[in-house]
Amino acid sequence: MKIYSKKILLFFFILVGSSGLLFYILQKPTFSEEKKVEPEAVVFVPPDRIVEYEIVANDTYGVIMANQGISSIDTAAIYQAAQEQYDLAKIGVGKKIKFYFKPETDEFYKLYYQIDSEEELWVEKGDNGEWQAARQDIPYEIKIVTSSGTIEKFLYADALAAGVDERAVIAWAEMLQWSLDFAMDVQVGDSYKFIYEQRFLNGEYVMPGRVLAGKFINAGKAYYGFSYTDPEGNSGYYDEQGNNVQKMFLKAPVAFKYISSGFTTGARYIQAFNISTGHRAIDYAAAAGTPVRSVGAGTVIFAGWDGSYGNKVSIRHNGTYTTNYAHLSKILVKRGQKVSQGDTIGLVGSTGLSTGPHLHYEMVKNGVKINPLQEVLPPGEPLKTEYQDDYFAQIAVWQEQLD
Ligand SMILES: [Zn+2]
Repeated sequence: MKIYSKKILLFFFILVGSSGLLFYILQKPTFSEEKKVEPEAVVFVPPDRIVEYEIVANDTYGVIMANQGISSIDTAAIYQAAQEQYDLAKIGVGKKIKFYFKPETDEFYKLYYQIDSEEELWVEKGDNGEWQAARQDIPYEIKIVTSSGTIEKFLYADALAAGVDERAVIAWAEMLQWSLDFAMDVQVGDSYKFIYEQRFLNGEYVMPGRVLAGKFINAGKAYYGFSYTDPEGNSGYYDEQGNNVQKMFLKAPVAFKYISSGFTTGARYIQAFNISTGHRAIDYAAAAGTPVRSVGAGTVIFAGWDGSYGNKVSIRHNGTYTTNYAHLSKILVKRGQKVSQGDTIGLVGSTGLSTGPHLHYEMVKNGVKINPLQEVLPPGEPLKTEYQDDYFAQIAVWQEQLD
């Protein structure tokens, strides 16, 4: 009897003790977790109602706002608030504008506009009821990628076949436009490698960003370019020795993007500089209407009809060099006009003594017609000496990746 009651007592003690422990465990560390899983405890934030509108021709800011049911008072207040950051009267066709409405009240309280590929505008109504504007860089997520290959057909076609965004290929070719003439210089077996940014928004690919560095091996010679911004904010492309890749003249009077159809496709005939035949010029086969650019800064000294040359433009760059552009379908400059490097001066045509649309391009040095592709020109504005260490430190990792 005594033993029996002792057993009961012990059992009772264990029960109380263990349940007490159990209670403690449940009570303390699991309390907050339990609360979380209760449906009532989840804070549900209903989303804004967002209306996205793509601007079409003849749209005006006022009309777009009215069509969204925005009051004229808010329309004017937003315009005023944004004025210092961006003039909403300048909104562009094809751009998107977004309207944000509060979930419960459906009150319009925020406007978004993408200014360009780099910046965006936000105008938001504060708690005090006043509209406030902010202009900021678009917060892209950046991924750095490398693309490389060997020329089989043409840089453009080969890079595209390798899955490179067309815009990245063009941006990269532009970095080399003072060193290489893509219509005349590039040959099968040349190789390339370049490092560039890909921009993503909310995980989705948007566009290529900056080209950071590149290397092109043309006929065994390597051409490098590295993007660099010095501490004063001056940006440019420099080579592996710190020379500016920008030169006094562009290699070609037709931009890469217009000759992108390639030198091996179709029945293209590009007549080269040839002293024995007397063709002291370079002919670029290009579609009629293709923009022709001045290879360097200078003054237009001739713009008009010149016999067998047809419509011709001549640009004097300095006391030494002049360039001529012939057979144009249209002249877009006037005699005496100053032009910058890369300015469009006319359109490709077939005027004068010409069998089909092409650009006849001449470079004259001290009165003698020379081969522009063989002319060695001094590099542009060099890197400042005080920034050279910084430059070489920055490009070291890229150069390693390229070689
Ligand atoms: Zn010619």
